[in-house]
Amino acid sequence: MPIYEYICKDCGKEFEALQKFSEKPLRKCVHCSGKAERKISASAFHLKGSGWYKTDYASKSAPKESKKESDSPKPDCSSCPSC
Ligand SMILES: [Zn+2]
Repeated sequence: MPIYEYICKDCGKEFEALQKFSEKPLRKCVHCSGKAERKISASAFHLKGSGWYKTDYASKSAPKESKKESDSPKPDCSSCPSC
């Protein structure tokens, strides 16, 4: 569930709200019940952060694939004259 950042036009305070994608954005400030606007750039930052985590996880599993590649030269060796 993404965290949306809001800023209040009335009191100027910023606050975060945990909402589903299907949920409508908050319009009232939690501090003064004034007009609040959602900061869209904040949610984009959170999506970018999850993307970095995925690439980091993929790099950890990479060494297993490199081992498989090191085993592949064996069929080629059987065809060489020295064997
Ligand atoms: Zn406010």
